[in-house]
This record gives sequence, structure tokens and C-alpha cells, in this order.
Amino acid sequence: MLTPEEKARYSRHLIVPEIGEEGQLRLKNASVLLIGTGGLGSPAALYLAAAGVGRLGLVDPDTVDLSNLQRQLLHSDATIGKPKLESAAARLHETNPHITLDLHPVRFTPENAITIAENYDIILDGSDNFPTRFLVNDTAFFLKKPLIYGAIHRFDGQITVFAPHLGGPCYRCLLPEIPAPGAVPSCNEAGVLGVLPGIIGSLQGMEAIKLILGIGEPPLGKLLIYDALRTSFRSLKLPHDPACRLCGKNPTISSVRNPETSAHTTCPTMQTITAAELKARLDSGELNAHLIDVREQEEWDIAHIPQAQLVPLQSIPTYAATLPKDAEIIIHCKAGMRSAKACEYLSSIGFENVVNVTGGMDAFQKL
Ligand SMILES: [Zn+2]
Repeated sequence: MLTPEEKARYSRHLIVPEIGEEGQLRLKNASVLLIGTGGLGSPAALYLAAAGVGRLGLVDPDTVDLSNLQRQLLHSDATIGKPKLESAAARLHETNPHITLDLHPVRFTPENAITIAENYDIILDGSDNFPTRFLVNDTAFFLKKPLIYGAIHRFDGQITVFAPHLGGPCYRCLLPEIPAPGAVPSCNEAGVLGVLPGIIGSLQGMEAIKLILGIGEPPLGKLLIYDALRTSFRSLKLPHDPACRLCGKNPTISSVRNPETSAHTTCPTMQTITAAELKARLDSGELNAHLIDVREQEEWDIAHIPQAQLVPLQSIPTYAATLPKDAEIIIHCKAGMRSAKACEYLSSIGFENVVNVTGGMDAFQKL
């Protein structure tokens, strides 16, 4: 039953006929696992805590950084440098001391995903990278739990609920594979207007509460897209893909441990070498690395470094399969942008020693 204090706290819920005391008790007995306490996780967690969702699980291995504060409202100036979960727990308990918080200060990995997630009713994805999104999707699928998906980029956001066991598609029906290099903006290029995750994360919180209360309709098979600059919401049909490797007719993925979920999740600090340093290594005759030129054949024909090998950017994924993951790979293009994308891609699939040539061929030719 609700205590008198709880009745007062949730009085604006209790007078909504679709919620009432029964609904409030449902919220109290519910549990939601939030992957990430960043831009999306912050508003979602704050609203779920305020609404009285009885138990929230928070997964986040990071510490608070000054650059987070522009959008991650769980954290504050005073908690810079502290673990995000410490900061988040303090803030959420300020909002509602009655809820239980389970803190998981670890990265969500194929090894711990099922053990962590099986104890919750709903999973809410606030992650910002493809391998984690695939992992959250696969985990929710195998555990038959609804997944509330949200993603943001600059001025656009999207949200849906993936729950193949209730109907509709999974994340892999929308995105069968991790995008190739250059197809999506890199970590460094990606930016976001601070309010946007507030809006998308709040929508995710709303869908969690609707699912718990069993009211309305979850957006199964429907992707809601918000365009902040046009002030518009539109809804795309998101069909289930019968050929989906996870939820399709003939699935080939049988566990949360697979190539997509095991890819590197962090945006690595890119290793760089200047054109002059590269020239010095070439002149010494001891390169001992794969030197790759990711420009196009026409550019190569005009001028190239004799020791380099031409592998145009779009051929990098195929070429990568022929290289050992611990090999040193030095990559250049004309000015350093395409090679940065190639470096980022190779790092994302597990290459450990990838180096970008700053300034590329332009800088090399000026030496
Ligand atoms: Zn699917």
C-alpha cells in the first residue's frame, strides 16, 4: 500500500483516472534498467525516479567530465571527476528518497549483460555507440524484455520501443550491421544541442511509464523522429525484417556474444604521426608498419609514396580482414580526413595500433 507521504507525493498521479492508486503501486513495484546516465539517461532517470518507479538500475563506468554538463543534468559542477553513478545516485535520491537504486559502475559487456539485465522489467538504452546498442538490443531480445531505444544527433532525435515478443521489429531490423567508415559522423565530428537529449530522454521515460501502467500503445514498429530545427515530429513505419539475423525466420545469432556486440565501444584517442615523422621513418628504411593510402586510384596516379599501398576508403572493411589486429597500421589520404575515418573504423573493430598521418599527402609533398 502507499504511505500517507507517498499519497501526498504522488497526488497528481493519483487523480489521473488511468493511473490512480493501483497504477502508482504498479510503478512502485516496477524496475527499469538504464544503460548510461548521460544525455538520454539523465532526464529519463530523473522522471522515472520522480514518478516513483520503485527500482532503477544504472549502468555507467564513466566519471563526470566538464563537457558533460551542457546536457547531462544528473551531474553537476561539484561532481566533476567523480564517478557518474555517485553523482547520479545523489541527485536521484534528492528527487525521491523512496526509490531503490542499483548501481552498476561497469561497462555493459556481452559477459555481464544478461546477469545485469535479467533483474529488470524494462531496459532503457541511453548509450551513444553502435556496439552497446546492438548489445542492449540482443540482451532485451533474448530476455524478452521491452527495450526503449533513443538516439540523438545535433538537432535530430529518434525514439521507439523494440519488443519482438510483443510484435514489431528489433534494432537489427533497422540496422543490420555496424555502419561502414564515413557512413556516420565520427565521435569528434558528432555534436548535439543540449536540450535535444532532454526531449528524447523524456520521451523514453514516458514510454517506460506507459508500459508499466499498461496504458496507451507503445510505438512498436514505429520510429518517431524529432527535428528540432523544423519543430516537427514525424513517424516512420519500421517493419519487422523477416531476414533479420536475430528476430527473423532463420536467425543466425544465438547469443549476446557476437561480432557486433563485441566491437570496440569507446571513441579512442586517435594516434597521429606528422608527415615529417613519417618521412624520417621511411628514410631510415625501417618502417615496420603497413602504410596505407586511402585515396582513390586517380589521386594515387598523380603522386604517391612508393612504400604505401593503395586501399581506397570504401575498400578498408574488406582489406581489414587480411590484417592481424595487433599490426601497426599507418594511414594517410590527401589531407587527413578520410584517413581519420579509416583509423576510427579500424579501431572500432578492434585494431589496436592505428596511426593517422596529420595533413596527409599535401603535408608530405611540402617536405
Ligand atoms: Zn530484428
